[in-house]
Amino acid sequence: MEDCSPETRRHRRAAAIPAVAVAALALGAPLSAEAGVHRKPPSWCKPRGALAARAMPSRIRLADCDLRGRTVRGANGLAAVVPKDGTSVTAHALRTDGSAELRVRVDRRAKTITITTRGAREPQGRPRQFRAPLDPCRDGAYRLEPSKWTKGTTVEWRYHPGTGGQPGTSVSTGVSSVVNAGTDCTADHRFSPAPAITARYAGETGTEPNVDGQAGCGQRDRANIFGWIPLPDAEPEVLAATCIWFNGPTTVETDMALQTQGKKWWAGKASGGTCPAGSYDASAVATHEAGHVFGLSHIEGSQHAKLTMAPSVAACDDGPATLGKGDYDGLIALYGGR
Ligand SMILES: [Zn+2]
Repeated sequence: MEDCSPETRRHRRAAAIPAVAVAALALGAPLSAEAGVHRKPPSWCKPRGALAARAMPSRIRLADCDLRGRTVRGANGLAAVVPKDGTSVTAHALRTDGSAELRVRVDRRAKTITITTRGAREPQGRPRQFRAPLDPCRDGAYRLEPSKWTKGTTVEWRYHPGTGGQPGTSVSTGVSSVVNAGTDCTADHRFSPAPAITARYAGETGTEPNVDGQAGCGQRDRANIFGWIPLPDAEPEVLAATCIWFNGPTTVETDMALQTQGKKWWAGKASGGTCPAGSYDASAVATHEAGHVFGLSHIEGSQHAKLTMAPSVAACDDGPATLGKGDYDGLIALYGGR
């Protein structure tokens, strides 16, 4: 439905205009066509269904197997539809036992696709020594996504509410904590200056985020939609998933889904009362996911466990709802101060 909107068509027409790009494609066409004529597709390049990343080479030439529009599944259970429009995509899943990441990089010029995975069922090398978590107000560690929004952008987003009484303000709280650098480390509850990136809430929508039932990334629709949906086919440890579509170093769309099925959510201290055992703080999870939306990646290691971008959130832990020093330093590294 969204694909047929006049706005999308305008974008498509605009995208088709640059003469240089068209000429380059035309020059490339006879070569790849000639090379492809007699070649049989490799055995892993199945005509239907999801394709297993572990069966493929890490770098795939489109001439060997045109993956665009196909679903690729990583060994860590995460999946993504390879974008047809030349963008790349990263899928992040936040799990009760850690996190997982699947990245599909599309190189339009080289006509190749590179697939990488991290986390969850993938072995992570030798187990690290446990180190006591640092004070998050002093721990300046961070890792960045390969893409970010253009500095100074106002990211417009819509909210997809849940149907089962999920905490309604948690997503906007999460977005605000990131763009306004909310923290418990300073007396006025903000790091200063705030990063040079802002967000605008554009209202509720009935359209779901482009996250499928397995917590994988679907086809993008050019709208940033964050909210609650059932992820019936996701692994039981999955709390939330965020998809980031990017063009080279620039993020162009993000969607965020929080799991409504089989998970208990808490609206946080501000809602009064105490956290029911086994519930997850919705603002904490949403702030972590919003960190991905704005370009922060996971920071691993037990000493960084108190940062928002640590790769797991424990039940009833509301700590990630406010930023630590490393989370803030990462945002300033991405955007500079406002
Ligand atoms: Zn995450």
